[in-house]
Amino acid sequence: MKPPLRIDGSMGEGGGQILRSALALSLHLQRPIHLINIRAQRRPPGLRRQHLTCLLAAAELSGATLEGAQIGSQEIHFTPGPLRPGRYTFDIGTAGSTTLLLQAILPPLLLASGPSHLTLHGGTHNPQAPPFDFLGQVLLPQLQRMGARVRLHLQRPGFYPRGGGILAAEIEPVSRLHPLELTERGEIQEIAAQAVVAGLPRHIAERELKVLAERLDPPPARSEIVELSECGIGNIVTATVRCRHVTELFCGFGERGVRAEKIAGALAGEVRNYLDAQVPVGPHLADQLLVPLALAGGGRFITLPPTRHTTTTIRVIEAFLPWKFSLEQQSPTHWQVGLPHQ
Ligand code: ATP
Repeated sequence: MKPPLRIDGSMGEGGGQILRSALALSLHLQRPIHLINIRAQRRPPGLRRQHLTCLLAAAELSGATLEGAQIGSQEIHFTPGPLRPGRYTFDIGTAGSTTLLLQAILPPLLLASGPSHLTLHGGTHNPQAPPFDFLGQVLLPQLQRMGARVRLHLQRPGFYPRGGGILAAEIEPVSRLHPLELTERGEIQEIAAQAVVAGLPRHIAERELKVLAERLDPPPARSEIVELSECGIGNIVTATVRCRHVTELFCGFGERGVRAEKIAGALAGEVRNYLDAQVPVGPHLADQLLVPLALAGGGRFITLPPTRHTTTTIRVIEAFLPWKFSLEQQSPTHWQVGLPHQ
């Protein structure tokens, strides 16, 4: 086995995604890692429950040896063994995001030697993480276009801060992923809005949908209110833009002390920004496509100006592989992110 790859977790964006991308690549490439300064740019720094669970799950999936696996740890040594696909349950134990846990362990399992069934307990609708619907409607179809065979199920929603959600993933591995070409979004087929209230009054959802109807052009063709009980307290409002070649989903999370109109207004602004730019890939999908692109050994997509999550994930991938991504500005709003076919 190659010597451990030393990765500085303070680089670029300096958050948890460096750990998750590094774990995914370490498992796939069977490369030991020595990660320092973990989440150095977050307060508090170091591993939190979600990151620790990513690490423990990656270790269990591969019989890895592991040092530094404690809450608050800013340095770990992780030496993976061969990937052992199968049936696993991982419980974050808090409302930590199950969709982010999947970022660390799903990519290598797509190419494993056998099928896997994962049951993940924690949050499914967390601020600053992909909500379940983003994974299901946005990321998954692109992975499927690359040849991945995976199905996701939301068995129970879990809102931050209570959690208690369950996400299940069924993975039928494939021998290779195909490079992704996503350079046009195609015509808009539908814009749909949804407001979910868990343990909160319905009028919050109604006010959010009203703002989206007023501020989006074209306005949502479909608007839906979902009222949940027994899933904790939470509110999420989403706008889904379905185009011929890609679906994008933007969301706003209700916050105590922030008016519903403000949450939905900010969301409408994000959607307008995306629609006006006429790019296929929004800012969050961009960073989440990079590890799959690396596993496929190539691909390209057009997106908005790259975020720090995107540039940082590229740096992590380039630390593992002798390949170079290209970032090419084509106009003020169009950037092409590419990985030449290897
Ligand atoms: P920390 O930085 O505190 O460790 P973290 O582990 O939660 O936080 P980040 O490093 O900030 O994670 O990464 C967040 C991930 O969630 C990124 O992949 C980002 O694209 C994704 N994400 C955040 N908000 C959304 C959203 N609204 N829709 C889809 N994806 C999102």
